Parts: sequence; structure tokens; C-alpha cells
Amino acid sequence: MKTKSCESCLMPLSQDPGKSESERYCSYCFKDGKLCYEGTDLKEFQKRAYESMRAKGMNKFQAKFFTWLIRFAPRWRTQTR
Ligand SMILES: [Zn+2]
Repeated sequence: MKTKSCESCLMPLSQDPGKSESERYCSYCFKDGKLCYEGTDLKEFQKRAYESMRAKGMNKFQAKFFTWLIRFAPRWRTQTR
């Protein structure tokens, strides 16, 4: 069975603590019918994601790792930097 992950931040949708409105994005990335961060700047998005993970009490190393993983999400993969 394939686990679906958010196309924006790669969080497994099965681990989404909220109720996702989209089949492609988690409840953090997609809210009220649109993406919470609509920009195209990967670095800016990673900064926000990191801060929200830290705010949720995740430890520094885990948060850094998940932040690094974001670059492989379908939403950002097309960007080569
Ligand atoms: Zn997400």
C-alpha cells in the first residue's frame, strides 16, 4: 500500500493531525480552499515549515531533517537550485 504524502511538504497524509481538505496537500499547507503559502520560494516555504514544526514542539534535528526533505516534494522538485 502506498502512503500518500503532502505534495508541498511531504508529510504523510496519514499523520496529518488536522482534517485535510485536499487529497494532495496536508491541513497545514492547504486551508480554506487554497494553499497557505502561495509563493514559489522554496527557501521561504522551508523557513515557515521549520518554524511551525518547532512551534509544534518537534526537536531541532527532526525539524531540520523534515525541512531539508521538502525540496523533494512534487511541488518544489521542478525547481533546480
Ligand atoms: Zn503539507
